[in-house]
Amino acid sequence: MSESNTNCPKCSAELEEGFILDYTHGAIVPSNWVEGEPVKSFWTGTKISDKKQLQVKTFRCVRCGFLESYAKP
Ligand SMILES: [Zn+2]
Repeated sequence: MSESNTNCPKCSAELEEGFILDYTHGAIVPSNWVEGEPVKSFWTGTKISDKKQLQVKTFRCVRCGFLESYAKP
């Protein structure tokens, strides 16, 4: 099954591809998935320097608005 014709698990309508925006350091970037629990950092807010990170793709159902996210390597 390819990502482009994935259907909503709630209502079976079509899902459209997108991503969740992050507003950070004055830039607008796609949201990332980070492994483990968030650790607070004095300098950056959250310490992620040694964590695995993946860009998150989010699909939105055109009928009910359900969001389904994928963080593929
Ligand atoms: Zn739906």
